[in-house]
Amino acid sequence: PGTGRVASVTPMSEAPREEDLFLRIIAGEVPADVVHSDDVVVAFRDIAPKAATHVLVVPRTRYPDVTALAAASPQTLAHVVAVAQRIADAECGGQFRLVFNTGAAVGQTVFHVHAHVLGGEGLSFTDL
Ligand code: C5P
Repeated sequence: PGTGRVASVTPMSEAPREEDLFLRIIAGEVPADVVHSDDVVVAFRDIAPKAATHVLVVPRTRYPDVTALAAASPQTLAHVVAVAQRIADAECGGQFRLVFNTGAAVGQTVFHVHAHVLGGEGLSFTDL
């Protein structure tokens, strides 16, 4: 029998900042082109954009991936989606693709949950 503990909902904000690039960006230690910041999330342009709009929306609290975020704080996940909509409204006619890579096998490289907001030119339906 299990212990009842659900490891994936444990916030990882105690992880050392040096090991979490996005915590360092949020802290201003690593430069980024920030397009939105509030008490809950920071959004900045991806350094290797895959479309005309390619912004990462990152919760200030570290969870390793979207599954852990959804389990621990659905309201934060809803806020990520709302901020994505605001960015798309401002930049690309309100329509966007939202991507959460979840696991190294599908391309996740930073294990601090982030939504890729993609829109505008350069984004093809056949990409998915
Ligand atoms: O989903 P994944 O973990 O692969 O996304 C990480 C993203 O972070 C990449 O798209 C990468 O280009 C971006 N990145 C960034 N600024 C950095 C390092 C990585 O925008 N300094």
